[in-house]
Amino acid sequence: MNKIIRNIFLLSLVIFIGHYNDVSAESHGSYKTNESKEVNVYSARKTYLMKPLFQAFKKDTGITVNIISGKSKELQNRIEREGLNTRADVFLTVDAGNLHIAKSKDLLKKIYSEKINKLVPSYLRDEDGYWYGLSVRSRVIMYNPNTVKLSDLSTYEDMANKKWKGRICVRSSGNIYNQSLLASLIYHLGEKKSEEWAKNIVKNFSRKPKGNDRTQMTSVVLGQCDITLANTYYLGKWMSSEKEEEKKYAKQIAVYFPNQNDRGAHINISGAAVVKHSKNTGNAIKLIEYLASDKAQELYAKTNHEYPIRENIDVSDIVKSWGYPFKQDRLSANQLGKNNNKAVKIFDKVNWQ
Ligand code: FE
Repeated sequence: MNKIIRNIFLLSLVIFIGHYNDVSAESHGSYKTNESKEVNVYSARKTYLMKPLFQAFKKDTGITVNIISGKSKELQNRIEREGLNTRADVFLTVDAGNLHIAKSKDLLKKIYSEKINKLVPSYLRDEDGYWYGLSVRSRVIMYNPNTVKLSDLSTYEDMANKKWKGRICVRSSGNIYNQSLLASLIYHLGEKKSEEWAKNIVKNFSRKPKGNDRTQMTSVVLGQCDITLANTYYLGKWMSSEKEEEKKYAKQIAVYFPNQNDRGAHINISGAAVVKHSKNTGNAIKLIEYLASDKAQELYAKTNHEYPIRENIDVSDIVKSWGYPFKQDRLSANQLGKNNNKAVKIFDKVNWQ
């Protein structure tokens, strides 16, 4: 008999603890566990970029941040593999598409923080509370000012025009940045017109897609093509580089923000999410709150020449030199994830390698 009573007691204890964990994950205020003064971050972002922020966070809160660095996909696979036993509390990566994929694989934890919701504009965070944008980047047209007249540039749509035949180099469609750009076009123009667009861009290729954003920019500088699509911070890196060649290259390419007379230039985010099986959820939320704060935002955006998530934050002089503020496409980042599958299919169909 005693055994039965004991078992019933243990069972209700398990149910109670299970329920308590569930509720507490949703509400920061009531989150009370035996958390250590640590938080573990699986980071796909450069360590030099994050370290000063994590050190400042430790100074403010006493919480130590342990970084495990890797490529976004690898870290995602690792979180999946580690399951319940993972040490990961925060997943830090780029692109709303990546964050959306992590969410759909059930790797993330839904959180609620009034503070974060106030700091991160709703179009830059997941509609269900699973991930949060912490910096903004724009994917723009970069061009060779010696071969392209400014008056020839206008919109992403216009890149499909015959006048660009043999003049565009781009990165492969396996890259999430291009997938997200196409996802935004699918939202604005519909699938049919977006497929038409992608098909015509392929016709305008100067060569088969290869390399990363900087490869495309180099090709523009070397006259292998006239325009490309690239994220602005890569030019920021060149402009602030200590390498002579990169500094020289930076002077031979220019930024053009497309669609300034309508929806604005395509933007994306880098962001963070709490991992589903995080053991330090309270600390993880505190870290995200910190990264979204004014103090961190200024450092965050400036170090990598990205854009802050709120307009009241200053940008670097390099970023200003391209024109700031510019019109940003305020489409919800959720749409980039939701249309990712469709974008991948279109790229396949039109043979954008
Ligand atoms: Fe990048």
